[in-house]
Amino acid sequence: MLTKRFLIIIFILLSCSQNVQANPEHSDLAQYPHVLILHSYHLQFPWTHLLNDNILSNLESLLPGENIHIEFMDERRYSDNPRVRTELLRLYNLKYAAQPPDVIVVSDDAALNMVLNSDLPWLKKAPLVFLGINIPESHDLSRHPQHTGVLEGMAIAENIEFIRTLLPQTDHILLIADRSGLGALMAEEARKLIRQQHFKEVTLSVYDDFTFAELDQHLARLPANSAVLFLTIHNDRNGDYFSYAKHLPTLSAHTPVPVFGMWGDLMMGQGSIGGMMHNASSQAEMATQMVKDILAGVPASAIPVIQKTRFTPQLDERQRLRFNIPVSRLPAGTERHFLPQGFLATHAVLIGVGLSIIVFLSLIILLLSLNIRRRVHAEQQWQNLRHTLEQRVSHRTNTLNRQNQQLTELSTQLALQANTDALTGIGNRRYGDEQLQQAMAEARQENTALSLALIDVDYFKRINDQYGHERGDQMLIELAGLLSRHLRPQDILVRWGGEEFMLLLRNCPLSQAEILCERLRLQANTINISSNNFLTISIGLSCSRYAENTEELLRQADINLYTAKTHGRNKVISPSQPSE
Ligand code: GH3
Ligand code: MG
Ligand code: MG
Repeated sequence: MLTKRFLIIIFILLSCSQNVQANPEHSDLAQYPHVLILHSYHLQFPWTHLLNDNILSNLESLLPGENIHIEFMDERRYSDNPRVRTELLRLYNLKYAAQPPDVIVVSDDAALNMVLNSDLPWLKKAPLVFLGINIPESHDLSRHPQHTGVLEGMAIAENIEFIRTLLPQTDHILLIADRSGLGALMAEEARKLIRQQHFKEVTLSVYDDFTFAELDQHLARLPANSAVLFLTIHNDRNGDYFSYAKHLPTLSAHTPVPVFGMWGDLMMGQGSIGGMMHNASSQAEMATQMVKDILAGVPASAIPVIQKTRFTPQLDERQRLRFNIPVSRLPAGTERHFLPQGFLATHAVLIGVGLSIIVFLSLIILLLSLNIRRRVHAEQQWQNLRHTLEQRVSHRTNTLNRQNQQLTELSTQLALQANTDALTGIGNRRYGDEQLQQAMAEARQENTALSLALIDVDYFKRINDQYGHERGDQMLIELAGLLSRHLRPQDILVRWGGEEFMLLLRNCPLSQAEILCERLRLQANTINISSNNFLTISIGLSCSRYAENTEELLRQADINLYTAKTHGRNKVISPSQPSE
């Protein structure tokens, strides 16, 4: 036993000096102390839950978790059943007699009562730390020096004062409790206050016999200027379990008056307006410190009992507004819960998400507009380029067209020049030859008569000689013009060479050709060389009817021209005329 105590002291000293982290590795559990936590209620009861969490988180840095034993008596559910308590005690004895805990922690009155009323030696002997004890008078603590802890007490009178401060017009306070366990004890305390007539300005009454439906109706019918002070309720008359989370909000909502109470952790936020309240964590911390001291070797008898926990003013802001209580009436240091948050704090997530979306969308819009601007710019550049190209192409096309036209004109001109006689402007011999071939082919094909005349100026050499070559040229030009003017559109006159011309008369029989040539001859006679001297021409005719080919045709015309020359000139000789 001494060795074990020594080990514990060393361990605690080490953990304090070296700041040992939670959950140390404990190779031998037997070397470490055991702590039994005995809760009056069940783990799901918020008060018990908070106490348990708090004690565990404080102790687990000192002990292996397995050395902390936790039991729940479930007193809120089985308070009227003494057999449950007897059977539980038998069970605990079975579990812990062989290996008694080094320290016992008991929460709330029922568990302490069980220990105090038990005859089990290990339970009576073990150092014990209690907390949550509301009715210390009901336990004779002085007989148990190995017991220490925190007396929670209750704050009935403080709460009545609190109600009067907040709602001075209140003339009736209904104190509600049940008839089991702690409820009955608290109701008794309330009745003591009534008997003492401590509060003269306000009527106090205790309501402790009801079903939940009756309680609900009763509270709903309370007159104005009343208030409810909740003491404690475990069960209703039917034994139905009271849930702070389920029943209290409904009761508070149905009653037209505020519901005050002292159990902060259980009542705050469940529809109660508040009250002089305590909280679980401060009690748990005080009790755990006592456990640590005991484990470190301090005798429990040397640790003084904390006589009462602090009940401080607390208020649900939503209920304050519901009952129009001015803030100015709140006692100094009142802790106000559920204060409305500012718009920014309330909607922080929404605003954050909204802003993020706006930033995101703005970025997308920015990117899109940049993209659009780039595209517009590119489009503009493309249009400009296209315009420039079109201009260039159009310019080139115009130039090419112009050059083409010039070339065409040039080639037409060249073709014309190639076929034209430079002096007289009529067709030349090359052209005459071409036309002769074509006309002969046509005449053959269409079976028409093509007449051909060779025209030669008489004694032209003399004209040249007498009047000059230039005058001769002029005569030739004049003669070509004159002859042309007297021809049909289909007739072709070319300069055959020197002062000689060839005339093609399409679709013209010899008889008509003779008449035409005769007329031409007479016209030529009108050209004046000098005062009484007129131009004469000789004409030799031929016709396709009497010639096999163009050579033959030319040859006959030439023979006839020769005949005209040799027979006095200024004559038309046709094949039909016999030669002289
Ligand atoms: P004929 O009556 O027998 O035909 O006698 P002609 O003098 O007309 O014939 P000839 O063949 O002896 O002479 C032709 C002259 O025509 C010779 C030549 O100088 C002249 N001549 C030829 N071509 C041209 C020309 O283009 N211009 C000029 N002014 N004279 C030319
Ligand atoms: Mg001649
Ligand atoms: Mg001649």
